[in-house]
Amino acid sequence: MFVSTATRAIRMPDDDTSPDTAAGSGGSAWIAFDGVDKAYREGGRARVVFRGLTASIGRGGVTALLGRSGSGKSTLLNLLGAIDVADAGRVSVGGVDLGALGERERTLWRRREVGIVFQFFNLIPTLDVRENVMLPLELAGVRARESEGRALEMLAAVGLADRGASFPEALSGGEQQRVAIARALVARPPLVLADEPTGNLDRETAGEVLDLLARLADETAVTVVMATHSAEAAARASRMLRVGESALVECAGAGRPAR
Ligand code: ADP
Ligand code: MG
Repeated sequence: MFVSTATRAIRMPDDDTSPDTAAGSGGSAWIAFDGVDKAYREGGRARVVFRGLTASIGRGGVTALLGRSGSGKSTLLNLLGAIDVADAGRVSVGGVDLGALGERERTLWRRREVGIVFQFFNLIPTLDVRENVMLPLELAGVRARESEGRALEMLAAVGLADRGASFPEALSGGEQQRVAIARALVARPPLVLADEPTGNLDRETAGEVLDLLARLADETAVTVVMATHSAEAAARASRMLRVGESALVECAGAGRPAR
């Protein structure tokens, strides 16, 4: 509904409107990992997370990253959000080689292109709900009046039109996560990363939040990549990929088709 009134401010180099559903490898991948190595150094020892990771994720829908704790889901999201960089190999999103960007460029790229949803919501407690959602627009230099309008529109889209003046602490966990989703999507980034977005919610609330995320992904043609170890979360995804050291292995039986 709010799609029709908003203009996409961001254009990616290969921007087209048709989502591609390819996962695994090959094709014209929107997200591509090409021979990616990533290790953490801990007291002189290296903890290898990825070794020659080669995989792609197509545009559109919700991609669930599955894997036991410690398998590298958060590391993968950090690479995709240019929060962290690979030791070797290439990570690209929409044709942009993230490793080729300097630190400042990475920050600017992330602000423009990525929305992030965290397990613990990470709303700013001293700002009210409306101000929390306006934040990405203000960082993007959008005028206050327009920011406010777009934030209220986004809050309506997540079913919280009447909570703009509330402070985060007055909201339930599920409501806070809906605010966080509104904040992640308000600047219309092409990519939304969600790290265990339902990990802190009860089952029923988790289901509602996941349905919301999937619906908004459809309506806004955003690409959502979500780390989860919940089978229910994965079942609502358009595709499921199991995170391994050198590959993302497609799992059969994802619940929803990609658009
Ligand atoms: P997941 O999100 O799937 O639980 P992570 O990506 O957080 O997994 O972690 C992958 C591996 O890397 C784990 O073995 C974890 O202990 C290790 N790791 C993650 N972050 C760091 C860090 N900053 N320093 C050292 N090791 C880390
Ligand atoms: Mg994690």
